[in-house]
Amino acid sequence: MTDILEAVRPASARAQALLASPQTFGLLIDGQWIQGKAGSTLPSLDPATGQVLANIVDAGPQDVDAAVAAARRAFNGWASLVPGQRAAILWRIADLIEANIDELAELETLDQGKALYVGRWAEIPGAVAQFRYFAGQAMAIEGRTITTSVMYQPAGKEVSAWTLREPVGVVAAIVPWNSPLVLTAMKLAPALAAGCTVVLKPAEDTSLTALRLGELMQEAGLPPGVLNIVTGRGATCGSMLAAHKGVDKVAFTGSTATGRAILDASKGNLKRVTLELGGKSPVIVLDDADLDLAIPGVANAIFFNGGQVCVAGSRAYVHASIYDKVLEGLAAQANSIQLGHGLNPGSHMGPLVSLKQAERVEGFVQRARAGGASIVAGGERLGAYGTFMTPTVVAEVKPSMEIVREEVFGPVLAVQRFDDVNDVIAQANDSDYGLAASLWTTSLSHAHRLSRRIQAGTVWINTHSMYDCSLPIGGVKQSGYGRDSGLAALDNYLEWKTVCAVV
Ligand code: NAD
Repeated sequence: MTDILEAVRPASARAQALLASPQTFGLLIDGQWIQGKAGSTLPSLDPATGQVLANIVDAGPQDVDAAVAAARRAFNGWASLVPGQRAAILWRIADLIEANIDELAELETLDQGKALYVGRWAEIPGAVAQFRYFAGQAMAIEGRTITTSVMYQPAGKEVSAWTLREPVGVVAAIVPWNSPLVLTAMKLAPALAAGCTVVLKPAEDTSLTALRLGELMQEAGLPPGVLNIVTGRGATCGSMLAAHKGVDKVAFTGSTATGRAILDASKGNLKRVTLELGGKSPVIVLDDADLDLAIPGVANAIFFNGGQVCVAGSRAYVHASIYDKVLEGLAAQANSIQLGHGLNPGSHMGPLVSLKQAERVEGFVQRARAGGASIVAGGERLGAYGTFMTPTVVAEVKPSMEIVREEVFGPVLAVQRFDDVNDVIAQANDSDYGLAASLWTTSLSHAHRLSRRIQAGTVWINTHSMYDCSLPIGGVKQSGYGRDSGLAALDNYLEWKTVCAVV
């Protein structure tokens, strides 16, 4: 019998090839797949086993320059297409992702570790929706006519003024490893809809689905140079893009620390920058909550995708009157989650993305335990390669503890009790982050009034991590600025131009 921590044979030929022997991937520059100029590569591993699946290019300065130059050359042509032509290509990209969804889900699982259902039924359909939504938005970009109060126009003349929306230019899209394909789609779809051209840098641990998406976008008829893909390390390839004078805007998703580095690097030519950063999202369970909904909902808020979700509900605050029951329920939920290789259909949760990340997450749990917290479920690292982390519930924590304040980015929930609604709102807001939150309540009044008082880009009520292409997502405070998804995302990639005429 196959060990559940080992890969089962995938269905797609591409995923089978990766498991059979390491595959070599190039860079997409100006419509051509090429090897890097310096010849350096990075291994891409199956995080469940440590097996090398692929070698990707570790792009250097010449590669980054070539990608930016190609995006610059392609810009005028792409920006001046009739919006409906851009829309048709975006729609075809969506169709091709959908047609290849089973293969893409297997590649994402092999590369990132996630349980297959996460990519197949949540994230990759989300990527399809992004391209369809922004295909529509490409044809709905509007300026405004403005009635001015100018007093000094020549006699007999009138002032007529209006605004145009124009694409920002060349965009560097830099994305993280936790949900590679959908996060990439959240950058590419609005940028291309707006008429921008793009240099994409996927995360070094998880570049494989971005590279496959590049092929599908070529197949959909995207002109050469409109999308370029450079793979490689953040500290080199990523920071070169952030500093590059030929880049007009950086659209970044990743950690708050890297967001700061990008802001520094981008100041040379005052690039536009949008930052979708980390979080430490509070989950508040009020005494009037429907616990049949709340207990599995709170567990899912932290354990989905192994807690490697920017909006993961990693701090739970439970009313004292229901605390024991909820804590017991959360521990039972954690213990019921089946860990296994993501390709195994019985797996609810795969490994964390890398050994480094698994060790980091375990370190948080060990320090919490040493600091007096009680581990009521999980807390162990499993597997021959050591990347599986058992779903973990930590109680008896204090507001000042690291486990309550810092982003763990793993399946670790810190639970606290509260008595007073005002206190819990103050505790929820006592964070450097402000990405998301959820409230669990059957009271309409609590839902409306408390959601306004929580400092976060998104507040969910009786649910958590509910994404949609139409819903803006992004942070306040040190969770960043700018929004992905929804109409607000298009603004990231458009400038306002004012035209004022005396007629
Ligand atoms: P990271 O910041 O280490 O890396 C993100 C990307 O930036 C990668 O492609 C990396 O190669 C690149 N990079 C690293 N250093 C760079 C530099 N100096 N200059 C330019 N690029 C650089 O983040 P990660 O560990 O890959 O991802 C996890 C983080 O992403 C978490 O903090 C998580 O909360 C955040 N995240 C946020 C959102 C959101 O929408 N707010 C969504 C998903 C993940």
